Amino acid sequence: MAEIILPEVELNINSPKDPAEATLVENFVCTAENSPNIIRHLTFDISGTDLVGKFRVGQSIGVLAPGEDHRGKPHKLRLYSVSSPSNGEGGNSHLVSTTVKRAMDEVDGTFYMGVCSNYLCNLKVGDKLKVTGPSGRRYLLPENSEDFNYVFFATGTGIAPFRGMIIELLESGFKGQVALVFGCPYRTDVIYPKFFTEMAEKYDNFHYIKMISREDRRADGSKYYVQTAIEDRAETLDPILSQDNTLIYLCGMKGMETGIYHNLAKKGFMDYLLLKDGLEDKAPADWSWEEAKNLVKPSSRTFEEVY
Ligand code: FAD
Ligand code: NAP
Repeated sequence: MAEIILPEVELNINSPKDPAEATLVENFVCTAENSPNIIRHLTFDISGTDLVGKFRVGQSIGVLAPGEDHRGKPHKLRLYSVSSPSNGEGGNSHLVSTTVKRAMDEVDGTFYMGVCSNYLCNLKVGDKLKVTGPSGRRYLLPENSEDFNYVFFATGTGIAPFRGMIIELLESGFKGQVALVFGCPYRTDVIYPKFFTEMAEKYDNFHYIKMISREDRRADGSKYYVQTAIEDRAETLDPILSQDNTLIYLCGMKGMETGIYHNLAKKGFMDYLLLKDGLEDKAPADWSWEEAKNLVKPSSRTFEEVY
């Protein structure tokens, strides 16, 4: 396999002490239908700042919401994955996009709204906001991206970096194979469905797989998750995963990595993993969940951003 050459990136050109001012130019719901999961596509204009052309897809942009927290301190920075390609949204280096889910929770009968995601989702075109970044050094496409195939695993808004990566790869004439495995609770929650469906129609080398967890059940009664696609959609994924120049990327909720690593191991795709002492001599089918969680780490062919 070719060496994976990651691009040099500039980090934290603007910090929370010295944020840049951006202007919101786009803000729309990016799920197919009205979903209780409200997810919006936002584009910021960073013209006139030192950030122009500096965000690479896979990195994150920081946002400082106005106001103070319950201790009277300014709200802390929140990070949002860049969902535009590295040359900017629509090829415009002064435009950076992200994909934001309104965060909300009910705990013991009290309803809480997330500070920054709701601030962002409420912004109107023309509103100004304070941004920082870029953030993130390793979760990137290689500079020699054409030397590899890619399998992207996303849960929920973990789709954000893959939108940009898929645009970047396919729209520049990439000839390898790209698969996107996307997981969400209901069909109404699928993010950017029209865009990815059209990309799959346009590019024979792009494979779009949706795993809907709360509608249908697998034959054994378990949920369809991104990791079960390794088994359920083997006809599409095996030919890509078995090539020795394929890289995998995971983005989304913490916990998704364990099931993916365990299912890759069960199918013998060991090159994506590093095993800690104690697991080498045990058949993957016999690993406990705890063992898969604690003793399996990503290899250099696996890129992981989960939290
Ligand atoms: P917060 O105000 O931080 O609250 C967090 C949660 O706690 C909310 O659900 C809120 O309702 C609840 N809550 C608040 N107060 C209480 C309380 N007293 N008791 C119980 N619950 C409470 N998010 C995206 O949407 N898109 C992205 O692309 C994205 N990319 C990310 C990339 C990285 C590298 C990281 C680290 C995070 C990313 N996130 C992304 C998450 C994002 O940074 C925020 O964490 C998220 O938007 C929630 O922030 P918030 O300010 O809205 O919520
Ligand atoms: P969501 O819409 O709730 O969808 C998550 C999907 O994953 C659901 O179908 C869920 O199924 C499924 N799931 C639950 N547990 C799983 C597991 N162990 N393995 C695989 N799939 C599992 O997602 P969301 O609210 O947008 O949240 C996505 C997560 O990604 C959040 O934690 C968010 O903060 C994070 N995120 C991270 C980054 C980053 O690190 N760069 C960027 C963006 C988002 P069920 O609920 O039906 O069980």
